[in-house]
Amino acid sequence: MMLGFILADYWWFAIPGLILGLYAQAKLSSTYSKYIRIPTSNGLTGAQAAREILDQAGLVNMPVEEVGGHLTDHYDPLKKALFLSSENYHGNSLAAVGVAAHESGHALQHKAAYAPLHLRMAMVPITQFASYAWQGILLAGFFFNAFFYKFLGIAIAVFTVITLFQLITLPVEFDASRRAKQQLLRLGLVQANEAPGVSKVLNAAAMTYVAAMVTAVFQLLQLVMLSRNRD
Ligand SMILES: [Zn+2]
Repeated sequence: MMLGFILADYWWFAIPGLILGLYAQAKLSSTYSKYIRIPTSNGLTGAQAAREILDQAGLVNMPVEEVGGHLTDHYDPLKKALFLSSENYHGNSLAAVGVAAHESGHALQHKAAYAPLHLRMAMVPITQFASYAWQGILLAGFFFNAFFYKFLGIAIAVFTVITLFQLITLPVEFDASRRAKQQLLRLGLVQANEAPGVSKVLNAAAMTYVAAMVTAVFQLLQLVMLSRNRD
């Protein structure tokens, strides 16, 4: 997707995001694989922990479903349902319960009409459109280099939308983790001495969103530099 970009001037703007992205991925997989092996003291599975948090918040009708794949856990605001990957659904590890509580945190945000979540949801259609447009611009730019430079203004506008989406994702993710830790402790689903382990898993996951945001900001800067150079 970024081929045309890599060949352009200021290609080195891609390096910080790339390094941070690789670091975040490595950190997440090592942290997750460590805490997936550490069971919670009360033996609750991710699904049970999520159920408890949702029920206590009055969301008794919200389904908690199992979904295939690795770390595919998510909250679907349109279906108003929680989806947990098999290992977190059935697992009773600190990692499983932490991830399940994080996704429950998104449901709590939705119930509380947390503004950044609503802004992010509102941005989904335009961001999807921008992503398609961006891929089209890169594809066209790869074959017709002149085209890319001619439509740099449009490219910047399109990529600004994508960057703003990455930006608004950060408070949503950090807040969901904050709510997760709060509920896990308040409801006694994990003990105080287990909280640091949960935090490490959730912080490692959050780092991947920070890396995505940094990547986007640098790509946007690259586009701006290309356009300034041309003027
Ligand atoms: Zn999340």
